[in-house]
Amino acid sequence: MSDACKSCGKSGSCSSQKEGKDCGEKAKSPEDLKLAENLGRIKNKIVVMSGKGGVGKSTVAVNIALALALAGKKVGLLDVDVHGPSIPRLLSLSGQQAHIEKDYIEPIPWSKNLWVMSLGFLLPDPNEAVIWRGPVKMGLIRQFLQNVAWGELDFLIVDCPPGTGDEPLTVMQLLGKEAKSVIVTTPQMLAIDDVRRSITFCKRTGNQLLGVVENMSGFVCPDCGKRHEIFKSGAGEQMAMDMGVPFLGRIPVDPELARAGDEGFAYIKVYPDSETSKIMREIVQPMLDMLPVTA
Ligand code: ADP
Repeated sequence: MSDACKSCGKSGSCSSQKEGKDCGEKAKSPEDLKLAENLGRIKNKIVVMSGKGGVGKSTVAVNIALALALAGKKVGLLDVDVHGPSIPRLLSLSGQQAHIEKDYIEPIPWSKNLWVMSLGFLLPDPNEAVIWRGPVKMGLIRQFLQNVAWGELDFLIVDCPPGTGDEPLTVMQLLGKEAKSVIVTTPQMLAIDDVRRSITFCKRTGNQLLGVVENMSGFVCPDCGKRHEIFKSGAGEQMAMDMGVPFLGRIPVDPELARAGDEGFAYIKVYPDSETSKIMREIVQPMLDMLPVTA
């Protein structure tokens, strides 16, 4: 009869098994070990989520990654929006093809400390509609986390598709409890209702919520520099308060931010002194505070 623990498969080294019990740990497959090794090199994992599409989630994810990279941190940006990968366009990387080796994929460098991965870099034709069912999408997300050669990173920023479906769930399950989330909303009640569901989702999966970002909240006049409330603003902040979640900031509607998205330039680098860039830097401050202080 084997003397190995029935749960984890280890013999001798499993303390529970020595006491004649099973430890309850499942033996890790080579795939799981590879995933753990790849993720173990990444200090902080941040998942950017939204309840609805079109609220500016990818724009916020890109600018969080840029702000962290411009602060000198090593950053990976992963686009898991399989049906609408927009990160390549937002960073002017469309048309790039990722180099694939036997068991790893090289991320595309944007700068010396920002690397990017998206399905957009793996499809031969960007106009191709991706018609994949759940298990295939889940397999791809696993590959992105397990086989992309991210190396040593301070942050991995994951841009998730909207909602609380299969993709965000797979991302959270693979990243584990240490992943933290940022939820993007617009001030309208219709978006807020969905965001409540995203908050509940994170509470259920046990992942810490870094906070809520209210995007397209007011308009800062380029002439007078004053903020005008085009729609009613502040509902995201109120909802965050009601649900006991930190509020990270209100990004105004900024025509240059929309142009940056269309043309693929790094807004925060081109307009470092604008109101929008200032808010972006405030949004990433709690993330920078998570890193150990270096002397
Ligand atoms: P999502 O990822 O939620 O679908 P996107 O980031 O793709 O949303 O943004 C949708 C559109 O709104 C894009 O054209 C983007 O440039 C624009 N946009 C996002 N945030 C702002 C903002 N604060 N000001 C102006 N345009 C914005």
